[in-house]
Amino acid sequence: MSKAEDRVLVAGAGPVGLVAAVALREEGIPVTVLEASADLAVDLRASTFHPPTLDFLSRLGLADGLIERGIKCPYWQFRDRKEGEVATFDLSLLAEDTDHPYRLQAEQWKLTEAARARLDADPGADLLTEVTVVSASQWADHVEAVIRRTDGSEERLRGRFLIGADGARSAVRKSVGAEFPGLTIPEIFLSLSTPFRYDEAIPDLADIAYISDPEEWLVLLRTPTLWRVLLPTDPSLSDEAVLDPEIVERRLQGVLPTGAPYEVAHKTAYRVHERVADRYVHGRIFLAGDAAHLNNPLGGMGMNGGIHDAVNLAEKLSAVWRGADLSLMDRYERQRRKVALETVQAQALRNRAILNERDPAKRRAHHDELRATAADPARHRAYVLRSSMIQSLRDLESVA
Ligand SMILES: Cc1cc2nc3c(=O)[nH]c(=O)nc-3n(C[C@H](O)[C@H](O)[C@H](O)COP(=O)(O)OP(=O)(O)OC[C@H]3O[C@@H](n4cnc5c(N)ncnc54)[C@H](O)[C@@H]3O)c2cc1C
Repeated sequence: MSKAEDRVLVAGAGPVGLVAAVALREEGIPVTVLEASADLAVDLRASTFHPPTLDFLSRLGLADGLIERGIKCPYWQFRDRKEGEVATFDLSLLAEDTDHPYRLQAEQWKLTEAARARLDADPGADLLTEVTVVSASQWADHVEAVIRRTDGSEERLRGRFLIGADGARSAVRKSVGAEFPGLTIPEIFLSLSTPFRYDEAIPDLADIAYISDPEEWLVLLRTPTLWRVLLPTDPSLSDEAVLDPEIVERRLQGVLPTGAPYEVAHKTAYRVHERVADRYVHGRIFLAGDAAHLNNPLGGMGMNGGIHDAVNLAEKLSAVWRGADLSLMDRYERQRRKVALETVQAQALRNRAILNERDPAKRRAHHDELRATAADPARHRAYVLRSSMIQSLRDLESVA
């Protein structure tokens, strides 16, 4: 392998690929990031950063600018659509557990923009856009990615290792033959953003609110400039029907009638999957982020879990780069796959079940349980340790 080829290839310049690349550069390891799009995505996707994610980003020098451009939310809430507040959870109870005892509401593109600026200024990093990874293969001491440029030409790129952070439809995952078992949620998630100030219209509303209802649950999330409304939608409808302006207006008036039309700044409808790859580590090729696991956004754990993958993977890969045995990477898989299955997926499914519950007795029991948890300081702290994903990182330490 030539010196120019002695590097880590990263497929995908989403939050996970870029954080992995910055973390590897912190260890002095050369990286080449391969991104299919002409530019990085700037649409509204994930918008919540949990405390330990901010701790990791802070160590990589990526948190300050993000925090300046976001909203610090120490409280989040569980509500009933008809009865109002059920329980409010307080992340400031985690002041001794994290340097960032709050959820930061900031759009994910603000992170990718900052990470890209870091890599662009670094001679040890390349970020190549309009380069699609078509397939990946490996030999005893190197990997090869077949890449396709926009003119249709193909080329082989070599590296010492390859990280597949190329999102939900990952070509790298398909290339290594990983299974991606799980299910598709029988709902379309409709995400609408509006400058309407729900916080001024709904008394005691926290900046992050999960609102249960037997007919139609919803989530209200504040971002620096807009409120996002997330609503479940009939999966048999076409995207055009779901996003039809009249229907969107009717649904927003259903959330809170205002008597005046809502201004809608963004609208997206997407299908949600709950899937975890059977293997994350395939010799010299590793999967991370959405390429490795997908879950519903209730709890905001998808991107956060992916960033935790990137940090864990980069730490172990740096040790392997400096001479540790490649089998160290298996611990990455054991640790992060366990979190994806037992924490992220389990919690996201539970959150959806609670929001969706139709049986009045079960709904009352869930709500009573949440109220009792919030009222008891020890249970409240344990709950926010879990929901903020700090507990999942602590539990990893005992995974051999
Ligand atoms: C429309 C939408 C809305 C979302 N909304 C929410 C939300 O409200 N809340 C939430 O928590 N999460 C949400 N998510 C999920 C969240 O955005 C992801 O969990 C997060 O982006 C995962 O980061 P990633 O880097 O693993 O993958 P991605 O962000 O998907 O990045 C993958 C990158 O790889 C590139 N790529 C793909 N294939 C190739 C290839 N073959 N070669 C080279 N490059 C390739 C893509 O262009 C992309 O830049 C949403 C996702 C989408 C798509």
